[in-house]
Amino acid sequence: MALLGATGSIGQQTLDVLRKEPDAVSLVSIAGGRRVDDLIAIAREFRVPRVGVRNAADASVIARELPGVEVVVGDEGLSDLASNADVVVNAVLGFAGLPVTLAALTSGRRLALANKESLIAAAPLVDRARAVSGAGEIVPVDSEHCAIYQSLAGSTHETGYPDVRRLLVTASGGPFRGKTREELEHVTKQDALQHPTWSMGEKITIDSSTLMNKGLEVLEASALFGISVERVEVVVHPQSVVHSMVEYVDGSTIAQLSMPDMRLPIAYALGRPVRFDHAWGSIDFSTALTLTFEPPDREAFPALDLAYAAGRRGGAAPAWLSAANEIAVASFLAEEIRWCDIVPVVEGVLTDYVDDPLDSLEALRDNDARARALARERIERLRT
Ligand code: NDP
Ligand code: MG
Repeated sequence: MALLGATGSIGQQTLDVLRKEPDAVSLVSIAGGRRVDDLIAIAREFRVPRVGVRNAADASVIARELPGVEVVVGDEGLSDLASNADVVVNAVLGFAGLPVTLAALTSGRRLALANKESLIAAAPLVDRARAVSGAGEIVPVDSEHCAIYQSLAGSTHETGYPDVRRLLVTASGGPFRGKTREELEHVTKQDALQHPTWSMGEKITIDSSTLMNKGLEVLEASALFGISVERVEVVVHPQSVVHSMVEYVDGSTIAQLSMPDMRLPIAYALGRPVRFDHAWGSIDFSTALTLTFEPPDREAFPALDLAYAAGRRGGAAPAWLSAANEIAVASFLAEEIRWCDIVPVVEGVLTDYVDDPLDSLEALRDNDARARALARERIERLRT
């Protein structure tokens, strides 16, 4: 297995799974960005023969510390590692995960996919790569999509799913559930980083507070399962026990449940079709458990409808949404803009979008760069 994005939140939880399954999986490569000391420690613990890192200066440090280990650098390094393992875990953050997704699919590997941003941005290119015979398969790690993947076992179809009425993606609602738009004007970075049910990296935690994460997940579900966004609905479920559901045309709804623990979907994606014999997040039904469901507040959390609009528009619109959001969230985390500026920045960038069918990697990179530049311009204007 290759674990790319090993030093992050999903990366660390994947290592937890491996510690429980030392005989099932061997780690042939890892990669990370800036946390070089952590990368070295992981390589030592798991005796990893190949390590990837973002820049050349860090590569020399790693090579010095780990004699005999092969060190590769940058996007090319990520592609190389993703092409040379049976299972590739893409736990890289953001658009930077694109080389991993494309290389794993084109070289016929199993892609255990946590990185939603690259799938959303590159959906037309990913579709094309998946259609080639011998292409790799995607097993989703994102908990909602792993739940849908498991719940789709009730369908007699492998694509298109005509017997499925809709996918129901559950959302915890984030730390600001129940707040009005006015109340959200003065929330702080510390408030936004307090997720009620999940402990995750900072970017996705902020995305969960704006509900942009749920918007991205609607696009992710549509891209993964080939179902239009009109057949994907969001249901707020604050306990995060029902991870998502599939409603069939006969009215039956099939769901996957567990206590919130990302190690379960990670282990599922690594083992499938085998289930590893270690339970993560098993539910204790001997004490009272209340599960509640409510519709999302689309007025207080406009990111949701923005994502649907980008999904309906297709082409490069989801790439613009995700790229502008990455810039706005980074800027909020750097305390340059307010929380309530994040979604308006993304919305403003999308008003400049001109339809592009996204037929090449070059076009995708151009669109990504353009959306980022426009987001930076808007942020600059807000700050002056
Ligand atoms: P983190 O920020 O915790 O980790 C991101 C990882 O990506 C780190 O290992 C980081 O390295 C690495 N990275 C970033 N840029 C590069 C690069 N250019 N080259 C190589 N490595 C790079 O994020 P999370 O683990 O929270 O999230 C990872 C992905 O999984 C995201 O797409 C997120 O949406 C998705 N996801 C996460 C969930 C969670 O529970 N955390 C749940 C569902 C999905 P370094 O730290 O060394 O710089
Ligand atoms: Mg999720």
